[in-house]
This record gives sequence, C-alpha cells and structure tokens, in this order.
Amino acid sequence: MKDTPPAPAPSRPVTALTEDELAALFKQLGEPAFRATQLREFLLRKGVASYEGVTNLSKKLRERLNVAAPLYELEPVRTSEGDDAAKWLWKARDGALIESVQIRVPDRLTSCLSSQVGCAMGCVFCATGLGGFERHLLAHEILEQYLQMWGRSRAHSTHIVFMGMGEPLHNYDEVLKAVRILNAPPPKGCGIGARRITISTVGIPPGIRRLAGENLQLELAVSLHAPDDETRAQLIPVAKRHPIREVMDAVREFSRKARRIVTYEYTLLAGVNDSVAQARDLAGLLQDHPCKANLIPFNPVEGSAFERPSLEAQERFKAVLEKAHIPTTIRYSKGKSVDAACGQLRRRQLT
Ligand code: SAH
Ligand code: SF4
Repeated sequence: MKDTPPAPAPSRPVTALTEDELAALFKQLGEPAFRATQLREFLLRKGVASYEGVTNLSKKLRERLNVAAPLYELEPVRTSEGDDAAKWLWKARDGALIESVQIRVPDRLTSCLSSQVGCAMGCVFCATGLGGFERHLLAHEILEQYLQMWGRSRAHSTHIVFMGMGEPLHNYDEVLKAVRILNAPPPKGCGIGARRITISTVGIPPGIRRLAGENLQLELAVSLHAPDDETRAQLIPVAKRHPIREVMDAVREFSRKARRIVTYEYTLLAGVNDSVAQARDLAGLLQDHPCKANLIPFNPVEGSAFERPSLEAQERFKAVLEKAHIPTTIRYSKGKSVDAACGQLRRRQLT
C-alpha cells in the first residue's frame, strides 16, 4: 500500500518569525533581505489588516508572500462596539479563544491585551479565574492582538495594558518577548514607550523582582484587593503562598530600580473589603512608599455572588485614602455595554 505523503506543516505567520527567519524566507523567494526589513517595519509601524495594506511591497510579491507565510494567525470571531470601548474575540490556530479590548478615554486609546487563555490564579470574583486555565499565549499571539486591532479599526493605541485574560507574570518569558518588540524603536519594534505599557499582576513576588531587573521603565499595577492576608487569600487563592508583606517588598524593589510609582489595584466588593476600617488599614499599608491606588467597583460576573458597593461606599473608601495623601482614582469599567470585564466575552461565547 502506498503511503500518503504527510500533510505540509502549516506555515508560521510573519508575526512569529524572527528577523533572521523572515530574511531566510525572502531569500527562498529570491528577494533581497532589505525587503524583509521593509515588511517588518511596515507591519510593526503602520497597522495593517492584511497583506493588501503593505503598500511598500509590490502586489506581485504580496501575493507570493500570502502563499508562503500568512501575515497573521489569529482570526477575528466577534467584535462588539460600545461608545468608549471595542471588544475583540480571536480564535487561535488550536481553536483557543482570546479576548482583547480597545478602550478610549480623552487623549488616549488603550489596547488591553490577554497574556493567557484562561488563568490559573482562580480569583473568585473574576470571570477568567472562574473558567480555569487553558494555556499560555505565545509572544506573537500577544503582539497580534495589538497589531490586528490597529489594522482592523484603523485606530492606533497610544497605551498598552496587560489587563485582559491571564496573569502576565505566570507567562513571563512570552510576555516579555512581546513587550520588548512593542517597546523597541523601529525598525526592530513598534516604538511604544515603556511608560505607556502597564503590566497588571495578581502579585507574584519572584516575577516582580525579575521584572525589576529588566532595565525597563514599565508601569506596574499590583492587585491587592485587601489590606490583610486572611481576606486577600479568600479572594486570591495564590495569595496563600505570597503574604502581602512579601509582595510589597518586591514592589518596593521594582519601584526603586525602575524609578516608577506603582499602582495598587483594589476591586471593591460590597461587605467584603469596602469598609472604612479596611480603607484605614490599606492607607496604613501604603504609607511607606510612593504609590497610587486604583479602586475598581466590582463588575458583576455570572456565577459569582459578589455585589458592587454603593457609590457612597466607594467615595467613602476613596476619601480615607486621599486623606492619607494617597492619590486615588475610581475606575469605572469602560464598555460595560460590550462585556468588557475581564474574560466575559469569551465566557459568553463558550457557554
Ligand atoms: N491578572 C492580572 C490582570 C488582569 S485583570 C491581575 O489580576 O492583576 C485587571 C484587574 O481587574 C485586576 O486588578 C483584577 O483583579 C480586576 N478584576 C477582575 N475581575 C473583575 C471584576 N469582575 N470586577 C472588577 N475588577 C475585576
Ligand atoms: Fe487571573 Fe487576574 Fe483574573 Fe485573578 S484577576 S483570575 S490573576 S486574570
């Protein structure tokens, strides 16, 4: 019996190729190496939806490239538009669903990116955490969220936040690989300043310390959610392994080395962590190093019994922190109309 030849391996997208690999591909096509650089620079700097938009290469070459290697790998499955946010759902090659959001506030457009499919941290108030962990994202799957939203919406984000699905420091290497490409000046990267890139973490001290050694002036946001270890561990299972004191020691190290003021995020849950006494404890905790607080009123999630505190309770909490001279903002979730809370669009698609 004759063996059937193996199916050809699916070609990797341009976003997944290193500079050398892209140059080798062009060589195979009989094209000079500088054209590979031209493609890379266009891709990272112009925001295109497909090869059609890469107007610095001839139509003929683009057609040949389209056969040799796709530009992107993520396929858009769904978008939902609100007044100030657009949410995107992508399908990866293995069928995994990935969420990203573009959020508009005056003078800035922020790309909110996912770092994993699902999340292993299991925070009890978070749609992603409730769904469990599926897999890490690869660097090019992270980069593509930013590039494709730009190319397809024709709106360029000025800022990037890792506040989509997943815990970025749990997928450290791939997240940093993507961050370095986003941050590097052209032609190697997208040229987004490190101060415009925020990593939001549940608070993993070894990851925070490692980040402190990267020599990158990134913005760091740390999810605290409670001023005491007991309450915190009820909300964030991984906090049992990392007491607040350890998290804050690592944050101080980051703050010193990166010379950045760190933001503490605090999801307000009615009757759980929103009392005046807890606000005072939090203020006490945040006294000894320069930092900011970002209060996030709970965004209702299906399958979770928590409630959002009243506006008065939110303001009362904020006032205590401000009285202690801690700059505090309340973040009203943008794009509630588009299910913009972490992990919600994917959850809806899956259920
Ligand atoms: N894994 C990272 C980043 C993702 S989410 C982290 O936990 O920091 C960004 C922020 O949104 C985190 O502070 C997270 O705790 C918070 N968050 C998640 N689900 C929420 C919900 N339903 N309502 C309000 N805030 C939520
Ligand atoms: Fe993961 Fe962050 Fe959600 Fe916690 S809040 S489950 S760390 S994505």
